[in-house]
Amino acid sequence: MSNVTPMMKQYLSIKEEHKDAFLFFRLGDFYELFYDDAVEAAKLLEITLTSRDKTSNIPMAGVPYHSATRYIEKLINHGYKVAICEQMEDPKAVKGMVKREVVRVITPGTLIDDFGISQDESNYILSLNHRDDIYDVVYGDISTGDMYSFETKDLDTLYTQLSRINPREIVVSNNSEAVLHNFYNDPPLITVVDGTSSEVQLLSYIESQNKQKLSHLKDIIEINVDSNLKLSQSTISNLELVENLQTKKQKGSLYWYLNKTETPMGRRKLKRLIESPLVNLEEIKNRQDVVGKLLENFIEREDIKAALNNVYDIERLTGRMSFGNIDVKGFIELRDSLEGLPNVYKLLSSIGLIDNVLFKDFDVLSDVYEMLKVLKSDAPKTIREGNIFEYGVSKELDELRDIQNNSREWLENYLSKEKEKTNIKNMKIGFNKVFGYFLEISKGQAATFDAEKYGYDRRQTLTNSERYITPELKEMEDKILKAEDESVILEYNMFIDLREKVKGHTERLQRTSEQLSILDCLISFADVSNEYQLVRPEFTEDELEIIDGRHPIVEKMLGERTYVPNDVKMDDDTFIYLITGPNMSGKSTYMRQVAIITIMSQIGMNVPAASCKIPIFDAIYTRIGASDDLSSGKSTFMIEMMEANDALKHATKNSLIIFDELGRGTSTYDGMALAEAMLKYIHNYIGAKTLFSTHYHELTDLDASLHHLMNVHVKASEKNGVLEFQHKVEKGAVEKSYGIQVAELADLPREVTIEARKVLKRLENTNDNTVDVTQLELTLDDTSEQTSTIEEKIKTLNINHISPIEALTLLSEFQDELK
Ligand code: ADP
Ligand code: MG
Repeated sequence: MSNVTPMMKQYLSIKEEHKDAFLFFRLGDFYELFYDDAVEAAKLLEITLTSRDKTSNIPMAGVPYHSATRYIEKLINHGYKVAICEQMEDPKAVKGMVKREVVRVITPGTLIDDFGISQDESNYILSLNHRDDIYDVVYGDISTGDMYSFETKDLDTLYTQLSRINPREIVVSNNSEAVLHNFYNDPPLITVVDGTSSEVQLLSYIESQNKQKLSHLKDIIEINVDSNLKLSQSTISNLELVENLQTKKQKGSLYWYLNKTETPMGRRKLKRLIESPLVNLEEIKNRQDVVGKLLENFIEREDIKAALNNVYDIERLTGRMSFGNIDVKGFIELRDSLEGLPNVYKLLSSIGLIDNVLFKDFDVLSDVYEMLKVLKSDAPKTIREGNIFEYGVSKELDELRDIQNNSREWLENYLSKEKEKTNIKNMKIGFNKVFGYFLEISKGQAATFDAEKYGYDRRQTLTNSERYITPELKEMEDKILKAEDESVILEYNMFIDLREKVKGHTERLQRTSEQLSILDCLISFADVSNEYQLVRPEFTEDELEIIDGRHPIVEKMLGERTYVPNDVKMDDDTFIYLITGPNMSGKSTYMRQVAIITIMSQIGMNVPAASCKIPIFDAIYTRIGASDDLSSGKSTFMIEMMEANDALKHATKNSLIIFDELGRGTSTYDGMALAEAMLKYIHNYIGAKTLFSTHYHELTDLDASLHHLMNVHVKASEKNGVLEFQHKVEKGAVEKSYGIQVAELADLPREVTIEARKVLKRLENTNDNTVDVTQLELTLDDTSEQTSTIEEKIKTLNINHISPIEALTLLSEFQDELK
């Protein structure tokens, strides 16, 4: 440190305090980064890496101060922290070193305003502490002020919640760091702190990063993790509740289907509603009642929608206000948002909803609206340019403005007087930052102009003109500039006062915003119910009876083509459906449909069916499809077993279990044995309502011994060797498997399917007939009797010992050879 410059000494001592952040060190019009920060940032931000000076060779990289936001955002989105170090004094006003301080550390989980924050997503920071066997969690969204907490002893529950909350940043006590590393492959930003309590550790972290207290953080809502329908992260993704499994886009998800919201708060709320359906009958029924009322009153619904359409993100605007960085534009948005609220109140009253618990004491905030009325709609974005307040708000401001306005008149008069006096008709008056006000005379005129005679003082010579000042002009200029400066300062202070005043109403703003967001969601529910002719489900103790149920999203995607509705009827006697049917017949769709209808029911939504009686489930467990988590390096089979285990361990009689072709990831006999054992376990020990599809036809015999199990199949028939899907679920097991016909539909080379039929025939002939699967033998081309190498390979293949993936690989090898 001895041979570094004083400024670098200052840098190093500040950096010492912020080792885990990129330090943006303000130097004039730039933020500079040094040493490793510079090297790293140059790569991440694609900016030039230079060095501070030739002798020291200190790596340096910088970004212009005015475009820094873009770069900061990029680093935050990469999961880094950025410490902003400002000059705390005017460099012109001090001798020697300027004082510098870190004014704020920007981190992914402590964002207030617009740094890479998505409108549609919550931006959570989470704090975890482990004490006396209990995992103590507090989490919140700093941009909205929402704060939640929960406790659990169960590590599985903790992990499920972690994936549901999906925090962008975690603060963890040093005693529970390992818990996180066991869970995350690709963790969010984690900061380890000395453990106190989750709440204290979170709040002090947030304050230390933002360098101030945040007054908009709401009271922490304690979440009982058992008070919602339990959905694991894999269930949320398998059922495509918020995004499509393949595309990872919203399109094709339940959220996409239900989202007709008007506000950003409404959109975020809708996601939360979908991911945490209710289990309390009264709360569900209340939402249903509201949706019912909104459905009945189309005109009022449309009017409320129109009002909501003018509402901005009040929740986040309030957050920014509390943090002190709301600008005039933000306040005008807030004002415009409040303007329509009395109308919303009136509409809610007129349809009898104003006394509903969800909208109780709906506060239209008229006083806050009045406070904001003083702002000019065309005010500039920044609060340091003046022109913020309307005329008539402050006498002092009006007087200062009068001086400026009158001076304009004065300048005009002065110019015409001077024109007359000097007889120079094309004389102009102008202003620039260096010389202030000046009179301008063209070169031609100036050549013969006697400046001294008129008391003109030449200040600037341009190619085509000369510029002069006069004592009168300067005197007026002083007055104008002073008034301008004074009014800018005055307006700035008035704005800060206004901000403080409105800040006092933070809690009220948050409450109204919460009520508007749920209103937004329930209106959306009513709209969707109306559009797709959905019905209100009726809740039962135990019985499940969906008549003519549809999968809402598949139906919507099919467009013109008609969806084939299907029933499900379960009760104490029959609670397991064993579903068979050829590939592509609709097994998966049928099972998902039941789960989606359950979720829709429990969020208070109407459902796609002719009628629906449904119990309140406590959890939905799913094992669906090949959601092979490649990044985690776990095999399909391992994931299958983990998900199945979760269900078998935690499901109760009141749960819904959906197992879609379980056992696919292992060899036939293993898979079949496991599937059978699990069915028996659910049947004998759990009693959960279960939909279990299988490609093992052997399992259909189980209905003889398991009395609560019923065979159903999805109908398909064959016409002239072509498979036709009816998508209709009927009682009994399927007779045929049609696997090869489906392969033909998938356009596999004819050589392969012909070959496959031969092999199948041979296998069936050598079968000991304990397996009652019969395959239809179709138009077999028996002319080629030569034994190909492929045939040889298929013959010797032990089907019981290969996985579907291996089979596909082989098939593709065969295909290559045949080509
Ligand atoms: P399986 O699981 O039996 O292989 P899927 O459930 O994946 O079959 O369904 C295959 C396709 O059949 C779906 O993508 C959908 O287009 C169509 N389908 C399924 N069920 C229905 C239905 N009830 N009505 C109309 N089309 C359906
Ligand atoms: Mg399927």
